[in-house]
Amino acid sequence: MESFIIDLRSDTVTRPSPAMRKAMADAEVGDDVSREDPTILRLEGTAAELMGKEAALFVPSGTFGNQLALFTQAQRGSELYCSDQSHIIQHEAGASAYISGVLTRTIQPRNHWLCWEDLAPVIRSVRDQHFPLPGVIALENALSSGRVQPLEAMKEITANAKKLKVPLHLDGARIFNASLALGCAPLDIAAQADTVMFCLSKGLGAPAGSLLCGSRDIIDEARFKRKIMGGGMRQIGILGAAGLVALEEWQDVLPRDHQRARALAETIAALPAFHSDPQAAEINMVFMKLKGKNSLEDQNRFHLQLKEKGLLTYPPEQGEFRFVFHRDITEEDFRQTLMIFQALAEEMDE
Ligand SMILES: *Cc1c(COP(=O)(O)O)cnc(C)c1O
Repeated sequence: MESFIIDLRSDTVTRPSPAMRKAMADAEVGDDVSREDPTILRLEGTAAELMGKEAALFVPSGTFGNQLALFTQAQRGSELYCSDQSHIIQHEAGASAYISGVLTRTIQPRNHWLCWEDLAPVIRSVRDQHFPLPGVIALENALSSGRVQPLEAMKEITANAKKLKVPLHLDGARIFNASLALGCAPLDIAAQADTVMFCLSKGLGAPAGSLLCGSRDIIDEARFKRKIMGGGMRQIGILGAAGLVALEEWQDVLPRDHQRARALAETIAALPAFHSDPQAAEINMVFMKLKGKNSLEDQNRFHLQLKEKGLLTYPPEQGEFRFVFHRDITEEDFRQTLMIFQALAEEMDE
């Protein structure tokens, strides 16, 4: 049954590769709370180097890493500045209110990403007994919308945040995808932020884990706060070993996902029944809307039709369907995917 399903719900659905499983089975481990897990120490060293930071800390998930970054850098009651479309706001279950107790100042970006002009009027630059303190700025690259923020736009925010002494966190869950799309090294993007979180378990294909990277002082404090959050784990070299394999392979794996996303978006854009913007398919994701009849009922029907043809995706959000490529999609799956859209477009034309 399983082999007939093309699972484009997310790049989190991948299974560990044979090389990962072997590395996991052979991993040298120890108690990581006492910093005695050699595999995790190696992974954290590799991560810090890749991001151009002094130190890194293994955490269970991307959400954990983002929230830990806020918890470490923003005082309770201080302001978190971020896009109203950011993962931290939309998809982290309100954690910043529970854990850090920050006051969220969400901003609607004028473009796809936050620019300094969006942030400048909102950030508190003057101290007054009435004003909340500025806490932390959070950016995202790549964005969950499948777009990437150009480095220049990040740099302007970085320079101003430094002037105002407001820390900057980067949600880099897909920073490797962003680096491919921008044609720069991951550390060129990470250099714009005080802390950066990236995920091993998205397009990289490891079963679990994310890393929070930053200066030695921030990461030491984050280790204490990770303990508060219950994230001190023991023989996690088992997971770290898969992460190390993932970090060796990303350059072999991700370009194909990007090429397929662009090709699918182009195929969809050429079909009269659908709308998709190939220019917006900057990483491994394609977004699509139905043209013409587009009620909630039409959307649900289309979602089901995809499933009947063997293509899995999450239900649309605000009328928008998302398809995400990842390393477990075979060439045959990909060809089949293009054919499914062509077949459905023909059926809808009738
Ligand atoms: C997936 C994702 C996260 C969180 O990762 P989890 O491991 O699912 O908690 C954070 N930010 C972005 C942009 C993501 O896509």
